[in-house]
Order: sequence, then C-alpha cells, then structure tokens
Amino acid sequence: MHDFLTRLGIEPENSGAWTPQALPTSGRCVPSTDPATGEIIANVRMASVADYEACVAEAQRAFESWRMVPSPKRGDIVREMGNALREHKDDLGRLVTLEVGKIVQEGWGEVQESIDIADFAVGLSRQLYGLTMHSERPGHRMYEQWHPIGPIGCISAFNFPNAVWAWNAMLAAICGDTVIWKPSLKAPLTAIATHKICNEVLEKHGWGGVFTLIIGEDAEVGEAMINDRRLPLISATGSTRMGRHVGQAVAKRLGRSLLELGGNNAIIVEADADLKLALPGILFGAVGTAGQRCTTTRRVYMHTDISEQLTAQLVKAYGQVRIGNPLDEGTLMGPLIDEDAVTMYRSAIATIREQGGEVLCGGDRVHGPGSFVTPCLVKANRDMDVWRHETFAPILYLFEYEDHDEAIAQQNGVDQGLSSSLFTGGFRAAESFLSHAGSDCGIANVNIGTSGAEIGGAFGGEKDTGGGRESGSDSWRAYMRRQTCTLNWSKELPLAQGIQFDL
Ligand code: NAD
Repeated sequence: MHDFLTRLGIEPENSGAWTPQALPTSGRCVPSTDPATGEIIANVRMASVADYEACVAEAQRAFESWRMVPSPKRGDIVREMGNALREHKDDLGRLVTLEVGKIVQEGWGEVQESIDIADFAVGLSRQLYGLTMHSERPGHRMYEQWHPIGPIGCISAFNFPNAVWAWNAMLAAICGDTVIWKPSLKAPLTAIATHKICNEVLEKHGWGGVFTLIIGEDAEVGEAMINDRRLPLISATGSTRMGRHVGQAVAKRLGRSLLELGGNNAIIVEADADLKLALPGILFGAVGTAGQRCTTTRRVYMHTDISEQLTAQLVKAYGQVRIGNPLDEGTLMGPLIDEDAVTMYRSAIATIREQGGEVLCGGDRVHGPGSFVTPCLVKANRDMDVWRHETFAPILYLFEYEDHDEAIAQQNGVDQGLSSSLFTGGFRAAESFLSHAGSDCGIANVNIGTSGAEIGGAFGGEKDTGGGRESGSDSWRAYMRRQTCTLNWSKELPLAQGIQFDL
C-alpha cells in the first residue's frame, strides 16, 4: 500500500456511496487496478439504486438552503476547497497516476486544473451577471436574472478522473446547485479521495450534501440518474456512444444535457511552419496520456514541401519516448487504461494494415505486466476509414496535402469536432483557419497543439463531440436557469398589442 493512499483515506475496501449515513454494505465489489502492474489497488463496493435515492434526497435537501446563500459566500467555501486540493495536490496527483496510468506530471497537472477552476469559480461568484433591457412600455423596468437550477448529475470519464468533476462541480457550487457525481468504474478511488477532500470543507461549514458521490453500475445507478426528472441537468463526459444514449434519455424527459464527447483532432503543418514548434506540439499531442485524451492529436496533415523532413523527425522522436511506470518521473508515456484498451489498439493496427496503411514505427504491445503499448506512427491514405474513428490509444495518422483549403476540408471531414490546430508562419493561413470557413471545431489553435486547453476558455466541441461547453468564459450559464423579469412602476397597465378592455 502506497503511503499516499493512506494519507488520502483510501482503504483496501471502499464504499461506493458518499454522504448519506447508510453506506452500502452489500453489492458487488469492483477492483480498481493499477494499469502499470495489473495489481489491484483496492476494491470498491458498488452502490445500489437505494443508495442513489439517498444521495438524491440529500442533494435535494441541501439545494433548498444552498441556493439561498449569496454567491460570493458560496465562493468563499469554493476557495477553501481549492486550497484543500492544493494541500493534497502531490498525493492526489500520484493517485490519478496510479489509477489511470498517466505520467505523474500529468497527474499533478490534472489536480492543478481542479485548483485553477476553483480559483476561477471564486472570481466568478461575484460576476453572475444578467442583462438589463429597455422596456418599450413607459414606467417599466425589464431585466434578466440567473437562478440555481437544482441538483445536477455529473458523469465523468476515466481519463480525467479528478478535473472533469471539478470543472462542473466548482461552477455548479457557486451557481447554487448541488452535484451528484457518478465517476467511471475505471477510476473510483480518485473520485473517493477527491470527494473526501472537498466534502470535509463543506461539512466543516455545515454544508454536507452539496456534493455527493455515487459509484455504481451504469445499467442501474447510471440509468436511474439519466432518467431522473429531479435532476434538471446531466453533464456527461465520455465516448460519443455513451453521449448519444445519455442525450436521448435526458431529451426524452425534456431535461438539459451538457455533453463532452469523443474527438478526432488534427494538426495542419504548412510549408512555412516552424518545425521546432510543430514537432513537440505533435509529439505531446499524440503521445501524451498515451493517446487517451479527448484532445489527443490523431491526424497530421503535412504540406508536401516539408512532409519528408517532418516524418523523419517524428520517427526519430517516437523512438526516444521513454515508456514505463508512470510514477517514475523520467517516464514520458505510461500504460493504456486496461487490457480492453490494448485489444482495441491491436485491432486498430490490424485494420490499418488491412486497409493499406504503412506502420512507420510502434504498433506493438510491450511484453511484461501492465497494459503498455508502443506509440504508433502511420503513413495513411484517404481511402482508409480506420482514422475516422477515435481509437483511444497513441496512434497518429500522417497525411500529405498541397493546397491549404483542401487541408482544412480534410481536417473538418470527420464526424467529431473537438480540437484542431495549424502551424504556420503566415498571417493569411492563420486567419483563414480561424475564419467562418476555417476549422469547424470547438477549439482552434495556431502554433500550439490540440491538447492542453486553459481553464479560462470555454471547453468543448461540435458535431459528435456533443456541443457542450465547460469550464471558462460563460460556461457557468449551463448550470443556471434564466428568468426574464418585468416590473411596472407606473400607474398604467399597457397591455400587449395595444389591446384595451372596457373596464
Ligand atoms: P465511456 O463512454 O466508456 O464512459 C464515460 C462515463 O459514462 C463513465 O462514467 C461511464 O460509467 C458512464 N456511462 C456509460 N454508460 C452509461 C449509462 N447508460 N448511464 C449513465 N452513465 C453511463 O468513456 P471513457 O472510456 O470513460 O472515456 C473515454 C472517452 O471520453 C473518449 O471518447 C474521450 O474522447 C471522451 N472524453 C471526452 C472529453 C471531452 O471533454 N470532450 C473529456 C474526457 C474524455
């Protein structure tokens, strides 16, 4: 048992529901496994639908009074939660690494994102602005205001087991909502540790119930949550397959969903690009988190003038990626999340070969314990279709192009629309990439890669990526309901459309 697990309160057997008094005592135990060794870290007892009901009751009860707390006061508590995460950053980052296999710098980086969004939310707690409109009627004032929406459901993906919840929860909290978190069964321990840290702050102030955690089967607890009319908003992060299902279930009850789904992100490298920038941008984007980020670079379109040089540089750089235990600070790439992910990686490599792609390097499983693979570079062609799908693994498809507009059309020519990037030294190419006819993605970057978004911007994507926006800018609006108010301070009651009653 690692020391940091003990410090985070993780025990050999953990419970799947947090906050209600009665924690589950029966129900299946699911192991959380270290993907780098295949060893079980701890077991988590699954929560039942009855446990879920207890969480909702708690979240509803807390909402009744939390919504009446002035937002800057809620911000004060969020500030304390951010500080508590700061204190535990080292341990929590290591737990993220142990449980999902991202390298430890990325584990710490993820917790830092949670701290950053807490800071952002504190500032925002004084800026939940509504508009004032000029009424067309004399002696009338018209304005809009934003109210808390209710207890919300947050479903998170395995690959950001800490930050995705924080992006939602910190904003929801300052907006006056309560949050029920259903994390991925592939990363339950990070959720338990994160929840404990934040809940301790809430309970200290008498606000237990603002955040609850429910860890259970998708078919039971997950379905109960998405079909629950008491939760006006479901924020779900994960695959497009999951999002399609969740989106339909929530729409059927006319609820709101905020969907953050799969990506298929491309980088275009123009002939005049600075390859000293493009090379690390591509490498970090494609190999970081072992290709298991929604913003991972999956395709590169290289101008024919530089394609040979860039390909050679990439092959060389790929050969230098240090694969190993992600807790060792010298490691650059850790394992895939589990054996199913290795199977999907291998099946994609087989399809690439069948469809005529040329594997330039990688494409293998690393022998030994753990779910390790080698990062793979593929010389691809447009007749293949394997690159149209998001294989959640480090496979990068290289294409050539001659015409700038054609490259943009190719980069847009997939179902997903999350992140995109262009490397160029030219003003015209950059502006055209960012114009209405340019990238169709939610994120469009110039001279930086596709991954590593900052908290201040709205994060999310179009098309099969789901259309949701989280974290910065005005994403907070998703967690509130808008109300338009008209006050008549005159002595007349002018009716709409000039209608008069003879009274
Ligand atoms: P996944 O779709 O397998 O699972 C995501 C979450 O959905 C898990 O918590 C899972 O338990 C839950 N879920 C599945 N079926 C459900 C149901 N019927 N009811 C309720 N909940 C249900 O995804 P994953 O493998 O954990 O994560 C990888 C995927 O997530 C990739 O496609 C990646 O691109 C995407 N992702 C997107 C973003 C983004 O912001 N766009 C961020 C991170 C990950």
